[in-house]
Amino acid sequence: MFSEIMAAKKEEFKDEKEVFLDHIQKSGLRRTAQRDLILDIFLRTEDHLSSEDLYWLVQKEDPSIGHTTVYRTLKLLTEAGLAREVRFGDGKTYYEHHYDHAHHDHMICTECGKVIEFFSAEIEELQDEMAEKFGFKPTHHSLRLLGICAECQNKEKDLSSAASGAQPRIRVKTVFGN
Ligand SMILES: [Zn+2]
Ligand SMILES: [Zn+2]
Ligand SMILES: [Zn+2]
Repeated sequence: MFSEIMAAKKEEFKDEKEVFLDHIQKSGLRRTAQRDLILDIFLRTEDHLSSEDLYWLVQKEDPSIGHTTVYRTLKLLTEAGLAREVRFGDGKTYYEHHYDHAHHDHMICTECGKVIEFFSAEIEELQDEMAEKFGFKPTHHSLRLLGICAECQNKEKDLSSAASGAQPRIRVKTVFGN
């Protein structure tokens, strides 16, 4: 039973690992235990992570891995098509899973930093129509709505009578909507 679970775990992210290994070899690099661990933690974390965020997760499992290694590995993951860079307007670059993940866009709450993922076939179609109209050949896009999430709107209503010292901040936290 236990070994079955272990076997199933071993197969986890098999494709992703092959893609990475392939990319590393093509880039003339060597496979290292550090890169393997970073890849593993990245794949296990279904979230939008900055290189700093990933660095702290990696630190918990191997404190000897430096920030530069994490950053460079993220770049490799992006080149290999396993990760995708996303920006949410706070000046930072975040990374999310890209391989075998359906395209989606983001709504970002500027109060609490919540990120809502969404997909609309109609919006996608309209974007393509617009591009065509301008003879533009889109290669990729990232649609971003900034605003206040439902929860924060409710909080604002509750606080409207009391003076609020809360500072607007962006701390990205993912919510997987649909
Ligand atoms: Zn889109
Ligand atoms: Zn919010
Ligand atoms: Zn996303």
